[in-house]
Amino acid sequence: MTFDPALQAADPQVADLIAREDTRQRDSLRLIASENYASSAVLEASASSLTNKYAEGYPGRRYYEGMDVIDPLESLAIERAKEIFGAEHANVQPYSGSPANLAALLALVEPGGTILGMSLPAGGHLTHGWKVSATGIYYNAVQYGVRETDHRLDMDQVRSLAKEHSPKLIWCGHSAYPRIVDFEAFAEIANEVGAHLVADIAHIAGLIAGGVHPSPVPHAAAVTTTTHKTLRGPRGGLIMCKAEHAKAIDKAVFPGLQGGPHNHTTAAKAVAFGEALKPEFKDYAAQVVTNAKALGEGLLGRGHTLITGGTDNHLLLVDLTSTGISGRVAARAINACGIEMNGNSIPFDKRKPFDPSGVRVGLAALTSRGLTAEHMDTVAGFIDEGVREAAKHDGTIEDAFATALAGRIREFLQPFPAPGLTD
Ligand SMILES: *Cc1c(COP(=O)(O)O)cnc(C)c1O
Repeated sequence: MTFDPALQAADPQVADLIAREDTRQRDSLRLIASENYASSAVLEASASSLTNKYAEGYPGRRYYEGMDVIDPLESLAIERAKEIFGAEHANVQPYSGSPANLAALLALVEPGGTILGMSLPAGGHLTHGWKVSATGIYYNAVQYGVRETDHRLDMDQVRSLAKEHSPKLIWCGHSAYPRIVDFEAFAEIANEVGAHLVADIAHIAGLIAGGVHPSPVPHAAAVTTTTHKTLRGPRGGLIMCKAEHAKAIDKAVFPGLQGGPHNHTTAAKAVAFGEALKPEFKDYAAQVVTNAKALGEGLLGRGHTLITGGTDNHLLLVDLTSTGISGRVAARAINACGIEMNGNSIPFDKRKPFDPSGVRVGLAALTSRGLTAEHMDTVAGFIDEGVREAAKHDGTIEDAFATALAGRIREFLQPFPAPGLTD
């Protein structure tokens, strides 16, 4: 992003740091599954004067004056979110995905109540009741995992835990699961035990918006999401729900958890939702999945192991056990070569969460730059080269190797403009 000269003049230190980050994002192979490139339009809206305004409350019911712009703006974001997902109600105020999840809990479960969610090591999120999260501290959290044989969701286990513990709320959704979630099956179980089903689509919202992943909206009491992952908006959260829960959800977000909404982010969400409603976004979402499958083939072809053998969504979970180095060590080493991914636990991981056996690889960002399936073999080659080099030297990579590979990656990426940075 090119700044007007104000920031450079007022604070060259910060301006230079941001410029360095721009360069890094432009020149590296960004494969962190939760990341993307927001468009210039999204960035511009989020850098606006709207950040100066207080607006506690909701459109038409505010605690402050001067709402002539904020009210229609928030209503616009709400209407667009509802249109994308076919939701009965939307709240666009959550500051991010985690606060959105806390709000859903606050709205639907009494303090200390029982909740059932996917465990972190199996691919779930912290906020689905993991023990160090507020959601695991303030609620009685029971966790399901994946099957040991094929690492897929085990709906029989979900059903038997639901029957045994009678949770008030069941979470579905994930941060590191490469397959389609059967939302209908979750809804059936929630129905059987009288629980609210909440689907957290933080990772896959863009795929659902683009019609390449089934939607939980018809089945779930509430659906939470981030807006900055595959949905490609600003860093933020969103909750959708059935009309019967609208009041409770709104009350939980404000005044339950938050004060004034971040109106500049609301504007950027509205812009991103507008982009997601365009026909091109369907092509984008389909291309993300095509690219993920193609990259998976490229990695399998080079002898790597993929959890579940492949992917149906935007991400791959690679088991690096056979290379002899951990996922974290590998991710760190190849970061020096201009390849960004994160170490990630694999199901039934024998290593500690801080130093897990796998890496998670996502295609949302690279696809936003216009890379297609034909480029994925080259990408797989870069990853493989870096990982093998690191494995050869016990997890370290020499500067000369790293610089050379980073240079080739920079050159490879050069023809693909990075949205928000070089478009
Ligand atoms: C990323 C993520 C979140 C949390 O979002 P933040 O914006 O980082 O708070 C919640 N749920 C899932 C499934 C996620 O992947």
